[in-house]
Amino acid sequence: LGGSISRAIQQMSNATIIDEKVLNECLNEITRALLQSDVQFKLVRDMQTNIKKIVNLDDLAAGHNKRKIIQQAIFNELCKILDPGKPAFTPKKGKTSVVMFVGLQGSGKTTTCTKYAYYHQKKGWKPALVCADTFRAGAFDQLKQNATKAKIPFYGSYMESDPVKIAVEGVERFKKENCDLIIVDTSGRHKQEAALFEEMRQVSEATKPDLVIFVMDSSIGQAAFDQAQAFKQSVAVGAVIVTKMDGHAKGGGALSAVAATKSPVIFIGTGEHMDEFEVFDVKPFVSRLLGMGDWSGFMDKIHEVVPMDQQPELLQKLSEGNFTLRIMYEQFQNILKMGPIGQVFSMLPGFSAELMPKGREKESQAKIKRYMTMMDSMTNEELDSSNPKLMNESRMMRIARGSGRHIREVMEMMEEYKRLAKIWSKMKGLKIPKKGEMSAL
Ligand code: GDP
Ligand code: MG
Repeated sequence: LGGSISRAIQQMSNATIIDEKVLNECLNEITRALLQSDVQFKLVRDMQTNIKKIVNLDDLAAGHNKRKIIQQAIFNELCKILDPGKPAFTPKKGKTSVVMFVGLQGSGKTTTCTKYAYYHQKKGWKPALVCADTFRAGAFDQLKQNATKAKIPFYGSYMESDPVKIAVEGVERFKKENCDLIIVDTSGRHKQEAALFEEMRQVSEATKPDLVIFVMDSSIGQAAFDQAQAFKQSVAVGAVIVTKMDGHAKGGGALSAVAATKSPVIFIGTGEHMDEFEVFDVKPFVSRLLGMGDWSGFMDKIHEVVPMDQQPELLQKLSEGNFTLRIMYEQFQNILKMGPIGQVFSMLPGFSAELMPKGREKESQAKIKRYMTMMDSMTNEELDSSNPKLMNESRMMRIARGSGRHIREVMEMMEEYKRLAKIWSKMKGLKIPKKGEMSAL
């Protein structure tokens, strides 16, 4: 996809005369590519119309950077489709919320329920899982296994066949136990069928969820719109989670799901494991959809803000892919100084959303300072190793004592390190483009 879009734009840039015909050819090429990426036909067509309105032929002809203008227009249009205009309901820690998961069988509901619970548990919530899937044999066992692994309380039954009854019992029980996030997993069936939607309607009516999350497999392709719409018609879907983003699918169906449910995507699933779960971030998602890679925006930025003489070193480190604690330390220093490299680091996809959430910069800075104090108690060996296994309990104890912090905090920092190292490692083998080569898609 990325290839054909950049080819289309390249061809247009090469044309000396940019007229409507050339622009149309370019847009048709892009349309084909987006369709292959599972973006719904109607959305693509609307986008095409909008772009024609936005992109001014005179600007293009006047020799402005044509590629940049078109690229930016497409990018913005896709971001707009992913923004339904209002945020999803966000549960509040300490207040009881019921969240119901819906989606077809195999979409990843049960896995995602656990990830969602685990994500909140790590932040100090008291989540609980209710298995209201009585349709699939082994559904309760699967949920039980996941929940046990994450030490999350769960409720379900091997005997009871009425999903509504189980859902209500589970929700009641966990309300009594003062859980603040009660998650109801439901059945899916293989096809969209009346019985499934009726069951969803009943479970929803009985448990009165504060939020219904539609779980969508990124590889369902053009079926996404109808599927999302069918669920929306039976229950009040308020958010979308796209799973299996670690696979080949680019997830263009997410745009359809947003359009059909008028709800935002809130998380994406990036693997089978409990912590392979990320807060949804529009820009990297769209970059990926366009085949720009998560990194192209980032690379553009590097050239914009990092002084030339400092670029090679940072880029070299990125391309080697070994993320040591020392690199983390240096980047934290930069962030605190808000020097140019610090800005870049905090723009790395995945870094910014979690490490420095918008509006919570003060807290984030305090956290980073705390981490740095702990790292000051590390040995050179520890700082220069990129093997997190080196950091055993006795080393963590020593660091905690040395820095006057709790071992729990050292462990938390190591978790953060592992998360950042994983993102960083995606840069391995990165080809470092020279300045001026950055504007291609
Ligand atoms: P459900 O039928 O909707 O409850 O779906 P499950 O949670 O049972 O998931 C179906 C399959 O998809 C399982 O094998 C999961 O491990 C897998 N799965 C779920 N989410 C992801 C993901 O984000 N990435 C990958 N690679 N696999 C996933
Ligand atoms: Mg399931």
